[in-house]
Amino acid sequence: MFPEYDEPLFRPPCEAGSLIIQATLGCPHNACTFCAMYKTKRFRAREPEEVKADLRRARLMYSHVPSVFLADGNTVAMNSDKLADIISYARRLFPEAERISSYGGARFLKGKSPQALRKLREAGLDIIYLGLESGDDEILRRVNKGVTSEDMVEAARRVKEAGIRLSVYVLLGLGGMERWEQHALNTAHTLNRMQPHFIRPRTLYPVPGTGLWEEIRRGEFTEADGVTVMRELRLLLENLDVDGAFFLSDHISNYVPVHGRLNRDREKMLATVDMALSRPEEFLGPRYLTHL
Ligand code: SF4
Repeated sequence: MFPEYDEPLFRPPCEAGSLIIQATLGCPHNACTFCAMYKTKRFRAREPEEVKADLRRARLMYSHVPSVFLADGNTVAMNSDKLADIISYARRLFPEAERISSYGGARFLKGKSPQALRKLREAGLDIIYLGLESGDDEILRRVNKGVTSEDMVEAARRVKEAGIRLSVYVLLGLGGMERWEQHALNTAHTLNRMQPHFIRPRTLYPVPGTGLWEEIRRGEFTEADGVTVMRELRLLLENLDVDGAFFLSDHISNYVPVHGRLNRDREKMLATVDMALSRPEEFLGPRYLTHL
């Protein structure tokens, strides 16, 4: 939508229709072994005046902005006063926008005071997208996420207490063939403690040039096949107790679309998983056949 970006640019699929403005560039962690998103960038927070100039230009270009997403990775890592200044400016400039959102990792959220998070909420921040990936501490350590499951729970508590909605990503397959069961069970356990508003599974897609790719090459990690990923998803769904949360597999990496509201739609979602497991040749084939 906005023409001049510092590429590459990423946003959640559900923000496809949003005005995307880069408040930060890159990711300040940039060390997860499965992630290549910001490898070519050095993290920096842009000055509010630069970002506001982008926002003003967008206002001149677009008569209706349904929502605003503040990129890049971990925008919440920037100074809270400066981020709140950008958010409240965006709110004033785009009164029609139904939400303003950004990515936010637990490593950076846990360093934010309750006052700082409340200030972001009062400025107009509606949703934070947080990458849990796994609720298993061994897996979090192996993939160098930089935080523990306890940190994830604490970050969730702070975000929700500030009145900000929390959307959490889970990375199916992150335990590989070796640890899929502990990945599913401990991820369910951690999500039950976090009680997010949205749970969004993605499926691991190893990328050349990452640490995980090298582990696969050295035989230290075995990529989970489609059937194993579905069994993992089944185990996760069976053990989740996050009443009222939306479970949305809204990503191209997933084998089958599994959507619903927990805990109400659990059986319906399990039926979709079982259907895929009963016809693996049709649904769990090569990854280029995955769909939303
Ligand atoms: S924190 Fe997120 S964006 Fe940064 S390296 Fe990890 S997965 Fe990638």
